[in-house]
Amino acid sequence: MPIREFQCRCGHRFETLVLPGEDESALTCPKCGGMSLERRMSVCSARVADGGGGTRSLGSACSTCSGGSCSTCK
Ligand SMILES: [Zn+2]
Repeated sequence: MPIREFQCRCGHRFETLVLPGEDESALTCPKCGGMSLERRMSVCSARVADGGGGTRSLGSACSTCSGGSCSTCK
């Protein structure tokens, strides 16, 4: 799934499904509507255990690594 993660200038981070041919530059922040989005590597394509008893929804960074290579990310 071509899920891309973006972080807005306002600090809001979110993931969105980018379809082939879709213009990523047309995306806007769902929180503030800003268009100054920084593309980030999406490392976790599914909900991961938070370690605190819950699950993180899409949009949260992996809590155990930043490179997408840990077991939590797979
Ligand atoms: Zn924003």
